[in-house]
Amino acid sequence: MDTISECGRGGAQDGRRDSRRSGLPTGGGPANTSLTLPAESVTALGRRVWDIVSGHLGGGHPGLPVASPGSAADAARLRVEPLPEAPVDDPLALVDEVGRLLREGNAHPDHPDFLAFVPAPGTVTGVLGSALAAGFAVPTGWRFTGRVSSAIESATVRWLAELLGLAPGTSGLFVSGGSAANLTALTAARDALVGTEARGATAYFSDQTHVSVPRALHVLGIGEERVRALPADVHRRIPLDGLARQVAQDRRDGLRPFLVVANAGTTATGDIDPLPELAAFCRDEGLWLHVDGAFGAPAALTERGRGPLEGLDQADSVSVDPHKWLFQPAGTGCVLLRDPARLTRAFGIGLPGYLDAGATGHDEGEVDYLQWGVEQTREFRALRLWLSLKVFGADAFRAAVERGLTMAEDIAAYIGSRPGLEVVTGPSLAVVTFRALPPAAAPDPSPEDADRTVDEVCRDLREEGRAMVVGVTVAGRRAFRLCVINPRVQRDGLRAVVDRVAELWTARTGCPDRPGAAR
Ligand SMILES: *Cc1c(COP(=O)(O)O)cnc(C)c1O
Repeated sequence: MDTISECGRGGAQDGRRDSRRSGLPTGGGPANTSLTLPAESVTALGRRVWDIVSGHLGGGHPGLPVASPGSAADAARLRVEPLPEAPVDDPLALVDEVGRLLREGNAHPDHPDFLAFVPAPGTVTGVLGSALAAGFAVPTGWRFTGRVSSAIESATVRWLAELLGLAPGTSGLFVSGGSAANLTALTAARDALVGTEARGATAYFSDQTHVSVPRALHVLGIGEERVRALPADVHRRIPLDGLARQVAQDRRDGLRPFLVVANAGTTATGDIDPLPELAAFCRDEGLWLHVDGAFGAPAALTERGRGPLEGLDQADSVSVDPHKWLFQPAGTGCVLLRDPARLTRAFGIGLPGYLDAGATGHDEGEVDYLQWGVEQTREFRALRLWLSLKVFGADAFRAAVERGLTMAEDIAAYIGSRPGLEVVTGPSLAVVTFRALPPAAAPDPSPEDADRTVDEVCRDLREEGRAMVVGVTVAGRRAFRLCVINPRVQRDGLRAVVDRVAELWTARTGCPDRPGAAR
């Protein structure tokens, strides 16, 4: 298995030039003006890189700590490294060292014990799609250079809309993630309903909404005083009557309500705003409904998820992050609009001569993606999901998402059945939050002590490299949170993490656990 331990030992077959260690030629001369490598070096380096990546993705992470508390020294050294003027002696050893740093220096969002935030359980096909796209340097925004990649992007976006059950004709584009997707959608909403100046424009969402939403509004010139983050109800959903009252009040005050942002899976607890009711309200009031499904929208791939996500198809725009619950590499987000022409209205430009010259005519349905968002030269992100869907088929994705929902139900039931623990929220869209209870005989810790202990236990787990779990605040109190979307998560491994949380809690609070509770 261990490509890492072979650092600098392999590849010494052919050492004509620069053969100080591994014997890989680097292209010769003090300054390699062509910035290319001899073919045998490219092959050897490529093989080594792929050994490292596939060893990581395919290996199930045995023995690999989920987090790396010991990486401070590496980080400190890397931060101050001087500019390398000369070529490295041994490129293979360099690649091996990078592999070591990536394994040992970072946390692993694809590790089955990474249960914090929203994990990013990558697929090997997503990585291959990245490599292929980078290998051809496709500036994919525009038909003059990227005709085929634009067509693949159009198809992938259409497939994604279909998987999510959105209306035919829905389209959009790939962006860097949920934050960029939200910004793109909200720009289209602003330009469609209140114009670029957005004078007096107001926007509405619950206080459970992701921070990228108020930040997008800030970028759009809609400052805090016109942003209504309504306190969520006891189910952590936007209060419909509070929303209606605030919109009416703002209209009376001469403001211009234009946007409601609904959550299809809050990041903290996986809760879903009442989408059908919000859609009806927005229709009546002439407001744009954007659904932030960055994390949760893929639940709509499954029978079980479609119920709670009913109404998703009535949104004007939806954000979804394929780099979360669709298992693609980081940097793969998507924004979908019911009326994609709104994107051209927000982002379209008259092409300067050098972009227009010689472009052939548009075929029916062809899109210049540089007219649909802020990026001109764009990564060909769509290829990651395209390749993954082609290789595995849509049903594999449905089953993988379903598995996350099942795993969340299983672990919630386990927590509920286990003395000393209680479920606080969920399972909702593969997120469960829970607390440890003081033993019956022990005095209750103060709320402040209990809250602090939650975060201390999370830190203990991280520092022992055991698991990545974060605390969240639910109804004013800290709770442990698990997000179990990774198909690598195993039932017993997950239960063992919960058991370890209970043990660490007991150790921290100094309370002997109830009999049988800590096994
Ligand atoms: C993760 C997340 C975002 C931000 O997405 P990035 O891809 O990190 O930019 C936005 N909204 C929700 C609900 C999220 O979970």
